[in-house]
Amino acid sequence: MVHQRSGLRLREVRVRSILSPSRLADYCLNPYAGCEHGCVYCYARFATRFSHPNEEWGSFVDIRINAPQLIEQEAARKRPGKVIISSVSDGWQPQEEKYRLTRQCLEVLLNHDYPILIQSKSALVQRDFDLIEGHPDVEFGMAITTVDPKLANFFEPRASAPDARIEVLTKAGSIGIRTFLFLGPLLPYISDRGKGLMDLLDVVAEINPDYFLVDRLNPRYGIWRTVSATLSRYDPELIPEYRKILYDKQTRDWYTFKLRQRITDQAKQRGLVSKMRLCF
Ligand code: SF4
Repeated sequence: MVHQRSGLRLREVRVRSILSPSRLADYCLNPYAGCEHGCVYCYARFATRFSHPNEEWGSFVDIRINAPQLIEQEAARKRPGKVIISSVSDGWQPQEEKYRLTRQCLEVLLNHDYPILIQSKSALVQRDFDLIEGHPDVEFGMAITTVDPKLANFFEPRASAPDARIEVLTKAGSIGIRTFLFLGPLLPYISDRGKGLMDLLDVVAEINPDYFLVDRLNPRYGIWRTVSATLSRYDPELIPEYRKILYDKQTRDWYTFKLRQRITDQAKQRGLVSKMRLCF
């Protein structure tokens, strides 16, 4: 079934399996393919390069409507292991409000004692705190790239606003859920230095999650076209700088070295080094 709504192409599909092996955990679960949030730096677009070769990332979502039936069978059959929700989409993107596929799958996995790692950019995820509250084997994280809502609107146009994500993570911590904050990807000249970076570390200090991760912007499949197009609207002078940081090895190595220094300094000033995990 194909729906057209404000430029978004939705397709209900049936898949043959739903719990896949993952490099990030033992398994990953993706009840949706494609992500309506449409973050311009999103690395997940590689996952749909063959199924949606000519469609803009963020403009389509495949809704895997048989995910709840499959997870019942697969969770019972497979060896329990850590499951990341979701790895190549956001499990709580807007369609989840109607379809509730991620919620149904999560419930089954918890019933079968699978450890779960959740990461999202959607405030909708708090709907499912009733399922994960009190589970020792669930980690829940929110990702933020910047605390500035205008900037977020440029780079993550349909994800929940940063303050909403911060609020949801705070709420999770307050009810005893193990939490982490993912800072990334840090945007060169925007959120990787100065006030932009300090604001992010201030949020970590304020929320005080169990740990926090930091990542740089990486030159992954398909990102240059959308990142450079967004920069041309935001600040065209940054385009050559980004090109060097992403694709010139010497510049990238030096950038990485300096970035590690800046983050570590900021973390030290706030007593956060022991909670910090650099992804680069
Ligand atoms: S929320 Fe995550 S999966 Fe969705 S577009 Fe943004 S970075 Fe990609």
